Amino acid sequence: MADRKPFIGGNWKMNLHADEAAALARALVDGLTDAPAEVAICPAFPYLHQVGEILSQAQSKIQLGAQDVHTDPNGAFTGEVSCSMLRDVGATVVIVGHSERRHVLAESDVLINAKVRAALDAGLDVIFCIGETLQQREAGMTDAVNWGQIGYGLAGVSSDHMARVTIAYEPVWAIGTGMTATPDDAQAAHQAIRAFIRCGMFNDAVADRVRIQYGGSVKPDNAAQLFAQPDIDGGLIGGAALKADDFLAIIAATQTVAASAG
Ligand code: PEP
Repeated sequence: MADRKPFIGGNWKMNLHADEAAALARALVDGLTDAPAEVAICPAFPYLHQVGEILSQAQSKIQLGAQDVHTDPNGAFTGEVSCSMLRDVGATVVIVGHSERRHVLAESDVLINAKVRAALDAGLDVIFCIGETLQQREAGMTDAVNWGQIGYGLAGVSSDHMARVTIAYEPVWAIGTGMTATPDDAQAAHQAIRAFIRCGMFNDAVADRVRIQYGGSVKPDNAAQLFAQPDIDGGLIGGAALKADDFLAIIAATQTVAASAG
């Protein structure tokens, strides 16, 4: 995993009501005694403040993240939430371009790019999601799709701002399905993504520094093998992030990898 500190994100999606969200946040605060990885949890909008209070009262290192954001700072955008509102409630990171927003809610690369740039300009860190569908994978288009989504999604982002971007490679067919890319397949995709950052869009410094998370049915029993790959720098976790024991075991898997690497 080179010397990049792994980053584990928990995407709670549209799950957990107030009491469940609070209980999970407290269990994670209590369970995460050391910090083998950077960790962020991303509750639904209504519970950001409550979960943020739990994290800050415990002086936890767990970061508060949101699952989406709007591009504009304020105004007539019914139902939307701005970057400064997220910062107001204590969020430091936001997920942009999740496949459910691309494919279920029809977000375009252009919109995703505007969100990435708005979030970075507002001082938020960004988890920028990319990944191919099963049909695209079977057509041999995995790298082309990833490169295209990066090319559009990170257009206009400076090398300096890239220090606050984590790329989450999440093959769409693996999200919430129980199907996981093999460690070798995931590594191949991550290696190609890093090569594109190096030669296609940025430079050696950005490519060596940028963290690329794997997402797609990561569980306690497959996390260590995935995280052991040289270009996989942690994970974005959905289903297994809803259970404290599973999420803590996935975080701990980054430590197992670090220890066995020497
Ligand atoms: C996700 O929501 O980003 C995700 C990877 O979900 P799951 O771990 O459930 O596949």
